[in-house]
Amino acid sequence: MEYMTPEELAVERQQVELVFGLTGGELETDPWYGWYRDGKLLYWYEQAPEWSVDSAYDLPRGIERDDASNVRTVVVDCLFGAPPAPSGWRIVETYLNSGETECWCHPGPSYPRHDDGTYGPTVRAADPDCPLCDGDGIVYLGDGWCELVCVREQPELGTRSHGTLRTSDLLSAFAGILLDCGGSGTTTDAAARRIIDTDGATLERYASLFPGSSCDLLGEFDEQLTSLAPLYCYWGHIEGDGADFGFWVDHEQIRDDIAQGYLDTESGPNEWIDINDHGNATLYIGAREVWSVV
Ligand SMILES: [Zn+2]
Repeated sequence: MEYMTPEELAVERQQVELVFGLTGGELETDPWYGWYRDGKLLYWYEQAPEWSVDSAYDLPRGIERDDASNVRTVVVDCLFGAPPAPSGWRIVETYLNSGETECWCHPGPSYPRHDDGTYGPTVRAADPDCPLCDGDGIVYLGDGWCELVCVREQPELGTRSHGTLRTSDLLSAFAGILLDCGGSGTTTDAAARRIIDTDGATLERYASLFPGSSCDLLGEFDEQLTSLAPLYCYWGHIEGDGADFGFWVDHEQIRDDIAQGYLDTESGPNEWIDINDHGNATLYIGAREVWSVV
């Protein structure tokens, strides 16, 4: 990306807001870190565009377009091709934009009383000093600007970090897992990036000098990973091995919900689970498979 001054970036952000109709403060102020590892995306917002419809997407596990933690829209210049999806996310729809719109310094025709006593439309001039349109009255971002609707991929089940309980090891492991899973969309992502950019010896020193704050940070990663666990699964250590961290099936919750009638064991339109004689289990929502374990 070419270098832009903070002033130019501020102008571009306002242009993006105008051209894409995002003037209600929808755009996030923090960049989306983790877009192909070292890139960062400046313009994005939670959910899919308001005018789009659910049926346009192939959304996994019952996710809907207004699911704020699992659906995001990126606004980006795709003139030379769309960027690849970031780790943990999948692009499900691309909407090309005309890239231009009327500027707000140019409010369109008004109906003033003319000197001769008649009334009629007069096009009001654009502001010649307007930084958004350079006095043209038309904001032009460029060709190729798109909205990319992205959906979080479901984390794979199974072990992710094994055999260590040292805080410094867990910090870097959890940080890496969080970013691989597409991040949380909170400030915790920036902390995770700092951790994976830090070498092992420095992390170890940090953990021994500041045990309290390193445990707090580990707790933050843990909390965000918990929120990413698939349906009827949990993040944490597996039963019987306190040093084996990953995403695991929550058999207890499944048993409880079957017993209370919240989870069906025969196919239907909602969530249901198929457990065979060998103990293999597959969770579905309607006809869609959510996960399967042996
Ligand atoms: Zn203008």
